[in-house]
Amino acid sequence: MKLKFRQYGMRFYPRGSNFAPPNPPPPPRLVVFPVNRDSDSDASKSCNDQAWIAEGLPINAFGKALRRRFGGRVQRVSIDAGFTCPNVDGAVTRGGCNFCDNRSFSPSRRVRLKQVHDQLTGGIITVRKRYNKVAGFIAYFQPATNTYAPVEQLREVYELALSLNDSPDFHDEVVGLAIGTRPDCLPESVLSLIEELAQRTYVSLEYGMQTIHDAGLVWMNRAHTHADMVNAIDRSRGRGFEMCGHVILGIPGETHEMMMQTAAEIGRLGFDAIKLHNLYAVHGTPLGDQVLAGEVRMMEREIYLQTVVDFLERIPPDVVVERISGDAPSDFLIEPKWCLEKSSLRSDVEAELARRGTRQGSHFVPPAQPPADRPVPEDKTPDSIRAKIETRGRLPVLKMES
Ligand code: SF4
Repeated sequence: MKLKFRQYGMRFYPRGSNFAPPNPPPPPRLVVFPVNRDSDSDASKSCNDQAWIAEGLPINAFGKALRRRFGGRVQRVSIDAGFTCPNVDGAVTRGGCNFCDNRSFSPSRRVRLKQVHDQLTGGIITVRKRYNKVAGFIAYFQPATNTYAPVEQLREVYELALSLNDSPDFHDEVVGLAIGTRPDCLPESVLSLIEELAQRTYVSLEYGMQTIHDAGLVWMNRAHTHADMVNAIDRSRGRGFEMCGHVILGIPGETHEMMMQTAAEIGRLGFDAIKLHNLYAVHGTPLGDQVLAGEVRMMEREIYLQTVVDFLERIPPDVVVERISGDAPSDFLIEPKWCLEKSSLRSDVEAELARRGTRQGSHFVPPAQPPADRPVPEDKTPDSIRAKIETRGRLPVLKMES
């Protein structure tokens, strides 16, 4: 059977893969490992810092960091809660990022709360069938901008995921939340809500930083600046949730030196985790059209590999590396094809670190001002976005129905 895929930001999923069948059979009981629910990011950072090096690993890898934290395998389950994006609905601009197939992020679509529940339970059941033992699941709010809705609706949707822990079939299995967003969609009201949730559970907030260079952000049509990113993280730090930065390597016009400047920013701003992606082009996007027309070229594999290794050497050892490349289903992917071979890229990155005799953080230079000493700035969330998040009622952004 040929699977159909849909794109969520830079990732793809089989259509309907997370949806439970109409009457799911009772799930098999699960062996649940003891869970360390410590949500203090400083505590987990020092633990990760020492543990992975003591284990002789080249990278502070995500899977192992989760195992240390939760005592066993933890899987993320992606949820489409019906959000749109201010880069699509006109709050900041229209059209979206040039790499993103955002045609499904229509501001007028409706998602029922029941569907959110079914995606999570369906995803958990699917993962259980694949793996014998899973210590827990992270509800991953991934497609579109998952902090872009009236704040009480955000609370409703996040709490819905956590409430699964009260059901007999999924008792205490949702060990945390991951929330993907843009740096300009984090007003104080949203950060306070996430801080409150982080007192009860693990929360990872994923910021679409992409690059520190505004020219690259303009080229991608991100419609935010790096100053927006700095403002968001300087207001986020020390609130008990993890801060994960999403970075794209291979943006046209960016030199190796510019990408290494982005690497230095990971330590300067104090991210807890990163996701590295190669720029790739898929059908149905402005970037895809440019690549097909021969106007833009993607990075060669060997250059990407060397750049990733250089990048990893320059970030702090306590930063958890959640990804080192991006990919898309072969039907959708235009270029580069090499990113389909994720595991061989991962082995080659590790082999290159071994050949150099280095590891993550080997060339990290601590910033003159530690991130914890950076002052907390005033909230610079654009008024056009704030108006939609701090509005009362259920409109106009996330049209969710009970
Ligand atoms: S910010 Fe860009 S990548 Fe993210 S959902 Fe909006 S259009 Fe897509």
